[in-house]
Amino acid sequence: MNALAATSRNFKQAARLLGLDSKLEKSLLIPFREIKVECTIPKDDGSLVSYVGFRVQHDNARGPMKGGIRYHPEVDPDEVNALAQLMTWKTAVANIPYGGAKGGIGCAPGELSISELERLTRVFTQKIHDLIGTHTDVPAPDMGTNSQTMAWILDEYSKFHGYSPAVVTGKPVDLGGSLGRDAATGRGVLFATEALLREHGKSISGQRFIIQKTATCRVRIGGTASIVQLCRVTRQLLTRGRDAGEWACDMWRGAGCSLPHVCARMGEGAGSVDVAQCDWTRTAVVMTLPLTRGREAGEWASRGVELAGEAAFAGGFGNVGSWAARLIYENGGKVVAVSDISGAIKNSKGIDVPSLLKHTIEKRGVKGFNGADPIDANSILVEDCDVLIPAALGGVINRENANGIRAKFIIEAANHPTDPEADEILSKKGVVILPDILANSGGVTVSYFEWVQNIQGFMWDEEKVNNELKTYMTNGFKDVKEMCQTHNCVLRMGAFTLGVNRVARATALRGWEA
Ligand code: GLU
Repeated sequence: MNALAATSRNFKQAARLLGLDSKLEKSLLIPFREIKVECTIPKDDGSLVSYVGFRVQHDNARGPMKGGIRYHPEVDPDEVNALAQLMTWKTAVANIPYGGAKGGIGCAPGELSISELERLTRVFTQKIHDLIGTHTDVPAPDMGTNSQTMAWILDEYSKFHGYSPAVVTGKPVDLGGSLGRDAATGRGVLFATEALLREHGKSISGQRFIIQKTATCRVRIGGTASIVQLCRVTRQLLTRGRDAGEWACDMWRGAGCSLPHVCARMGEGAGSVDVAQCDWTRTAVVMTLPLTRGREAGEWASRGVELAGEAAFAGGFGNVGSWAARLIYENGGKVVAVSDISGAIKNSKGIDVPSLLKHTIEKRGVKGFNGADPIDANSILVEDCDVLIPAALGGVINRENANGIRAKFIIEAANHPTDPEADEILSKKGVVILPDILANSGGVTVSYFEWVQNIQGFMWDEEKVNNELKTYMTNGFKDVKEMCQTHNCVLRMGAFTLGVNRVARATALRGWEA
């Protein structure tokens, strides 16, 4: 079932449970506005290439429409429509004052150079600038886009409307981005999982987790930044004062290096890399970073470090899963299997997640990690575990594999990972599913904090961001549970009825007078 059919089916079921008026039901399903634009850019070689960009603004009854912009070859109007609708219910479940929207460009960001991506983003912004805005529609990163993309949108938008930092969220911190935004979806997954397990008399520690994440990639950094800049950015952005970031700073300083041209490899064994082995004559800094660092890669770019090609902009993939894995491990959970685009690995005794993350940095994926055994990537979802976290693409849990799933809990870190047919099979098996519109709402919730900070003109510290996020995620879970009791339904319907009811109430209160 395609994403739009699946989302609309869930909506209609919720509308029935709520006894929604059929006219209201119809009006809530139809998007407020669908925008389709042609974006033609000159490629670096001078040839012209055209793309189609979309922005679906689904609903604004509760506030400005909100949602990411995705760059992916498979972006199509139906999927963007479904994802925009999901954003409407998600922001309502999170109880943040927004409606829902989603956008995308059907392109392969990995095949475009950084300057082509910049041109494409600017042309897209020129086409939609009068339809977005701080109080109308606020884009954010999604698959294939990152904080650098947001910086370009902000800059282009500001040419028409004056400097307006709150027109996008997920920006680089230097342009008004929020601390904690990068980890927010993964951290929200942790808080929601804690709340669910607590409800079942369990905690993160003692549970066995499987995490299906996506890719890792290589980032090539060259250009003109001074080494001091590189060190500062590294310290700030890479693992926030830990591991590779610290090492890079020390190494570059220790080398007394004043040249911007370093060849270094960060990741596994980084602490023991011999500076003398580095090729100081190379004209690029070559680092291997996981896609989890995609957003940071954008930060580098925004500071004048030139990022070449694919790697910089494959950003976003793997971010949620990697943060979730790290935070679950830090909270005593046993991660028994992980997959990404490179393959899948398993260790029933528990994977050393920090070492795995270092390995993925070095080797561009989980494949070959020697603290676990390789398994078939297709079987990751049906391996034995307590909690399964799909954090990659939509539709991965379907009627083909639902019967084989052995997890007791599924936490939907990705958007619509479970097909409605699989939903039915799993609920008969007694598997508890924490739905996407609650489980992954941490990202848009911290986007809201970012918007609030921009409007206030006041920056919060990371602790405040994380504490507020915990409150919102815990309240969201509590509110969904209440709806489950009221309507005697599973968590997905609890979340849908909660979201749809809040939007329906706001719509009715605002009225229909033309
Ligand atoms: N793209 C994210 C999502 O699907 C975040 C959206 C936002 O922050 O506006 O929830």
